Amino acid sequence: MDPEAELRAVASEVDVCIKCKLHLSRKKAVPGEGPANAEILFIGEGPGFHENEQGRPFVGAAGRFLEELLASVGLTREQVFICNVVKCRPPGNRDPLPEEVEACSSYLDRQIAAINPKVIVTLGRFSMARFFPNARISALHGQGRLVNGRMVVAMYHPAAALHQPSMRRQVEEDFARLPEWLARAQRPAAPEPDPTPGPEQLSLF
Ligand code: URA
Ligand code: SF4
Repeated sequence: MDPEAELRAVASEVDVCIKCKLHLSRKKAVPGEGPANAEILFIGEGPGFHENEQGRPFVGAAGRFLEELLASVGLTREQVFICNVVKCRPPGNRDPLPEEVEACSSYLDRQIAAINPKVIVTLGRFSMARFFPNARISALHGQGRLVNGRMVVAMYHPAAALHQPSMRRQVEEDFARLPEWLARAQRPAAPEPDPTPGPEQLSLF
């Protein structure tokens, strides 16, 4: 399927999804947004109050900070794809539960496969854990690592950094190196489709 059609399909499935309890607190689902051919994919945690109202990712205070960070490296939000680990708002902005992250994972996997970005930037612990299950964000933040041939950079969540001056400086420094990771990165080759079984394999059935 072409990438734009796949992203539209994910968004319309998410709108009516009931695979986890978060659908109960959903006003608007927040599948994510951005161009299907984006070079950079940002993955946050989950929709907050404003995102749930508007159906768009990172539109509150954390979003404004993210836009400032993007501007600091010459990017606008229209140039990147922005989404979250869970597509529906956890009540009261609580952390998403492991079973909710798991239930929602196929949507994120399909977005990653469709966009095939050069660089994935994880924002916060929950999206980092999808790529680096045992890592500590305090040790890993700001460093580009190849995961299955794709550059992944873990960063602190902008909402956490917003009101803590030392963390804020750290996120700004980590962002400043993003063009460097992008310059080193390539889109991984699309995985080979499964070979059609030959007659000898078919004869097993
Ligand atoms: N925080 C997130 O992790 N995601 C959003 O979309 C907004 C705030
Ligand atoms: Fe479905 Fe994800 Fe929303 Fe849960 S958070 S209901 S899995 S779209």
